[in-house]
Amino acid sequence: MIKKISIPENNAVEQKNWDVIIIGGGITGAGIFYKLAARGYQVLLVDQNDFAFGTSSRSSKMVHGGLRYIANGQFNVTYESVREREHLQKEYPDLIRPMQFLLPVYEHYKFGASLFRLGIELYDLFGSKWKHGTYTGAQIEKRFNILNQTGLKSVLYYYDAEVDDARLVYRVISEGIHHGGSALNYKKCIGLMRDPSGKVNGIQLKDEITGKEEELYAKAVVNATGPWTDDIRSQVVPEKVIRKLRGSHILFNRERVPVNQAFTLFHPDDGRALFVVPWQGMTMVGTTDLDHPAAYEREKPEPFITLQEEEYLLRAADFLFPGQHVEKQDIVSSFAGLRPIVSMGEMAPSKASRTHKIFMDENLFSIAGGKLTTFRIMAEDLIQKILPLLPENNIEKQKKETVQKEDSPLIEDTRQYHRLSGIYGSSLQEFLSELQPEELKTLANTSFTLSEIRWTVRHEMVRHLSDLMLRRTRLGLLVQNGGKQLLDTIKPIVIQEKNWSEEKWEQEVIDYLKVWKNCYSIPSK
Ligand code: FAD
Repeated sequence: MIKKISIPENNAVEQKNWDVIIIGGGITGAGIFYKLAARGYQVLLVDQNDFAFGTSSRSSKMVHGGLRYIANGQFNVTYESVREREHLQKEYPDLIRPMQFLLPVYEHYKFGASLFRLGIELYDLFGSKWKHGTYTGAQIEKRFNILNQTGLKSVLYYYDAEVDDARLVYRVISEGIHHGGSALNYKKCIGLMRDPSGKVNGIQLKDEITGKEEELYAKAVVNATGPWTDDIRSQVVPEKVIRKLRGSHILFNRERVPVNQAFTLFHPDDGRALFVVPWQGMTMVGTTDLDHPAAYEREKPEPFITLQEEEYLLRAADFLFPGQHVEKQDIVSSFAGLRPIVSMGEMAPSKASRTHKIFMDENLFSIAGGKLTTFRIMAEDLIQKILPLLPENNIEKQKKETVQKEDSPLIEDTRQYHRLSGIYGSSLQEFLSELQPEELKTLANTSFTLSEIRWTVRHEMVRHLSDLMLRRTRLGLLVQNGGKQLLDTIKPIVIQEKNWSEEKWEQEVIDYLKVWKNCYSIPSK
């Protein structure tokens, strides 16, 4: 039975005492939330902004073993990741899909390619075998004539998987809600509550929309705020442990950079590994790996790509696909995210460890680092630490409702059906039952439909237009000018479902286009 999410008029949290309160609705918080709810605990998750607002909507969209980590000797990260890739692909088959990766090997590459080759072999040892091999000789030019052919010796191929990261977060959260958990966005933790002995036993919460503040209590408080970990933790211990490393991506229309497989390359300037990934009908190039100064956080409300990063990524694309002559004006959108790396001193950014770490300070449990791919392992690790504080009589519920998938006579396109099944999971049947056939038309160059706009605005806690354009759908990344041309088309649905006035809509449009221009477009000189 699907539990519908309804937000009370004043959006107050009616229940004041919880087993666990989780601060942060990225993939880390979502995973912990789902697992605790499935075990029958009273669990509340809050996010100061939208779910997946942080790093979890700004990743390279790969569920992967992390070949790059082998080059840095982080075998444990790859070991965990390969196994998780396996598991997640089985659990979310329509959302996490295998993707072929190609690694063109050029004469000037030194060790990079051989380390990757070793990594691909290790994948087989760590998990079940996914196909891999090498294309050589005449095969290469015939199959991959888009590639720079100068000095190209061979092309390795292997498989990893791709995902819509923000939709994964929302799916995990909604499954937690179906198990009885409560999750609210735009609720900021502004302080920690302490008992007389100094132990953390709750949070002060501020509603970012109404401004209302309240106090909530829990047996354990989890700090899963990714790049913001230190902000919460420093209320208990002064030590700072997070190094914010920015990674940026640029997106092209697929016609401009026509690739059907993902590519791994070593940047011609510095030899760093990068990816070109076909994603949602676009071609995405990334990523960078740079310290994110505090001044940038003061400058704009979200991380953003710099001119230097944009040029660096364009040079990578131009090196790999010289015949395409890609230029700045071909870039449709960009996005930047902050890796919440647990600090390893002054180490080169790409070498900093990607493993997660848990800090236990006066019953505040902070968890940071790790990857999207390893979220289940991180959640289990954290839960083992808080179990001693929780009642013992909870039994793990049935893993997941088995969803009886029935084909929809309305959706004849099998690919579209599977895409929707990946997005909605156990809510798919309900989505189909509310579907209005005239709203199945796809929007611009994307696979998103008006029916998804209606569903998400009605059921998925969309509070602002940016939630809808950047995270519940990815229209803001996939369509020129942040999808400005689509706003008149979606407006009637949004204002009807949300009961927004004309003025409210106009303000939302202004706010959304401003954030898009500042943080998702291309910097001008
Ligand atoms: P976040 O997603 O940042 O979530 C933290 C949340 O806490 C935010 O939503 C924020 O709003 C909320 N919050 C903060 N303060 C408060 C407060 N006071 N009150 C309430 N809420 C608060 N991993 C992969 O597996 N595959 C990849 O391809 C991949 N690519 C990446 C590429 C880049 C460029 C980057 C930066 C990372 C990549 N990663 C990848 C790593 C992965 O994306 C991150 O490890 C993961 O998303 C971190 O999730 P999180 O939940 O810990 O943090």
